[in-house]
Amino acid sequence: MRIEADLKLDFADVLFRPKRSTLKSRRDVHLTRTYHFKHSKKTYEGIPIMAANMDGVGTLEMAEALSEHSVFTCLVKSYKAADIAAYEGKIDARHMAISTGTHDRDFANIEEILTANPTFQTICIDVANGYSEHFGDFVARVRTRYPSHTIIAGNVVTADMTQELILRGADIVKVGIGPGSVCTTRLQTGVGYPQLSAIIECADAAHGLGAHIISDGGCTCPGDVAKAFGAGADFVMLGGMFAGHDQGGGTVKSSHVFDGRWDAGANAWSTTEKKTVEFYGMSSDTAMEKHFGEVAEYRSSEGRTVEVDYRGDVHATMKDILGGIRSTCTYVGAPTLKDLSKCTTFIRTARQYNDVFVNR
Ligand code: 5GP
Repeated sequence: MRIEADLKLDFADVLFRPKRSTLKSRRDVHLTRTYHFKHSKKTYEGIPIMAANMDGVGTLEMAEALSEHSVFTCLVKSYKAADIAAYEGKIDARHMAISTGTHDRDFANIEEILTANPTFQTICIDVANGYSEHFGDFVARVRTRYPSHTIIAGNVVTADMTQELILRGADIVKVGIGPGSVCTTRLQTGVGYPQLSAIIECADAAHGLGAHIISDGGCTCPGDVAKAFGAGADFVMLGGMFAGHDQGGGTVKSSHVFDGRWDAGANAWSTTEKKTVEFYGMSSDTAMEKHFGEVAEYRSSEGRTVEVDYRGDVHATMKDILGGIRSTCTYVGAPTLKDLSKCTTFIRTARQYNDVFVNR
């Protein structure tokens, strides 16, 4: 047994230190980035935020809406070639990836989708535990079959495995084990890595090889997204922050909750209507039952099912997130998103914000 004693950090452990800046307004900040990928040799241009390949988030409708902001969507794994083809004309394949697991049937599904939709350039190979040898072999197999497609592979949280996946053919490594809003991996297994430190360490490893990383999971507010970029993430993937919107396709449930006021006219406690949408982890019982009809005997659920507030159209949320990041850039003097990590000094904190009027 060994213990690594240096403290690893999460988003909630730091804040940006503000710096003198010549920027006049948030409007002067440019969030678009251009990346050249190591293996595929493709060029990407867009705002490098990604919707996660989760039910209720990584839908074709979400991709259609987010691509208007040049924001990326990793589609859920369950889409088939025909589902995507039916959407042709409405979606922009430059801002989308198809997602896959690592079974032979998944490989066949990628082939079908890419044959029917040749404009798709990006393949996201996504497993909960990117440390298995089988996973690395699968990444290498996809790289051999698709030499000029951009390959995302994950998830891992350490520099050694980031490099290994890049050497096996990944252009972009997805980083994050256990930080997700509906993830219970840390409770079920005790495994994980604080996300801010994972980003710093994996970005350094990837950038040294001319590759890129995605920070996946753990962002709860626009400030966390900015912190992920400040720490060195090339892309930031969001699940929970994109949940509960019209574009996710979930059913909106309405209920009436007591709001603590007495309605004298009605001679009753008053209620307010609350609208919610179901959201669940892709390893939760809900997801496994939906996609496979059961929870396999040998595995436990590593995801939660929750009700999130219904939030309407995703465009308003998107603007809010982009506005927050622009504002971070003005506080630290970064004229572009590319400059943000160079302009970042994090300070370690014991308290993040004043929550006196927030329900605790
Ligand atoms: P969020 O932005 O909601 O904090 O995190 C989204 C990420 O959580 C996803 O992109 C994915 O990596 C991870 N995730 C999604 N579903 C599950 C799950 O059921 N279990 C675990 N361990 N992680 C999940």
